[in-house]
Amino acid sequence: MTRMMKLALSLILVLAFVPVNAGATEGENSFSPNAFFAAEKGRIVPTPHPSGTPDFDIIILHVCSLGWDDLDAAGLRDTPFFRQFDYLFTNFNSVTGHSGPSVIRLLRGACGQQRHGDIYNPAPEGCYLHNMLTSAGFIPATLLNHNGKYGTFLDDISRLGGWKPAPMNVVELPAEEIFFDNSPIYDDFSTLDLWAHQRTATSPPTALYYNTISLHDGTHDADAEKWWKIKRENHYATAAVRLFKDLTRFMDTLERSGRKTVVILAGEHGMALRGDALEAAGDREIPLPRITRVPFAIRLINGQKRLPGGPMVVDAPVTHLAIGYILSRFADTSPFTGDEVIEQAVATVPLTPFVADNGEGLVVLEEGHYFLYDKNGKKTALETGDEPIH
Ligand SMILES: [Zn+2]
Repeated sequence: MTRMMKLALSLILVLAFVPVNAGATEGENSFSPNAFFAAEKGRIVPTPHPSGTPDFDIIILHVCSLGWDDLDAAGLRDTPFFRQFDYLFTNFNSVTGHSGPSVIRLLRGACGQQRHGDIYNPAPEGCYLHNMLTSAGFIPATLLNHNGKYGTFLDDISRLGGWKPAPMNVVELPAEEIFFDNSPIYDDFSTLDLWAHQRTATSPPTALYYNTISLHDGTHDADAEKWWKIKRENHYATAAVRLFKDLTRFMDTLERSGRKTVVILAGEHGMALRGDALEAAGDREIPLPRITRVPFAIRLINGQKRLPGGPMVVDAPVTHLAIGYILSRFADTSPFTGDEVIEQAVATVPLTPFVADNGEGLVVLEEGHYFLYDKNGKKTALETGDEPIH
């Protein structure tokens, strides 16, 4: 099916809940929430056993409100930004539509997917990326382009995500945007560059977790007049183009520094720039695939040859466990020692069927169709109009 046909089909589909006769759909092969989460509990990435101190950095760029559907809506799906990466995953499921749970899930990415309620309880020590990377010789660091005060964001990172370092102080930077709670948002390049400038040739190998809310709903440019009159779509497109430019400039700076760096880019969740009959634009309570399907990309800076035609695109279904796995493989054997390290890591990446979770229910992809399972296990078909990928 061509891309245009897919688009046309998604526009034609009527968006509605379709009740399902549970007796007719439940069988030995149907999804079982209990079985899924029991299996996920047993998944843990291999412990890295590096032969020495790593000679590269890891930078995780965690981008709030970056979903494939948003990029589609903003006309940015095929942005050149992604062409600079080595691998691009197009079927990454953020599981949640909200920032806090997404950060916790990412930072616990060494283990399989937990139930929403369980992410607020401690996880086994081996699940935390912080512990895995620290034991492999990396020094963790934290950087935000905001104050982290909204919600319980900093608490989510440190206590629940187990990522210990306090964020670097960036308050001297000029505010580029204003968050909806009137706090400053610093521009991405300046924030990342402030961190990079503190690095020297002899700095120990670092694993940096960076969080940006430059695309978040309700933000506006600090100098914008009558910003509330600007259409969401227009602001989003402007902010996304600026973010991509800033991140590209930062990666260019890293390249010029000569320092070997693994860059992992992942969307936190989509912004729901578009709505449908199930959920209005901007609402993210039901974790629909158009909200939780986000970009995940890997780039080796100052590494082996880059692919001339852009990234290798991977459309297999993955979630945070894939990030934990890739990082564990890299922490074990530097991906800068040969192309086969990243090739094998990607080829063997753990796959996870699509199960999104907001604590009240699950959105599950089964045989090409999406279903909602409520807390009592009641199953309802979702005709989301979203193109089922697998
Ligand atoms: Zn977010």
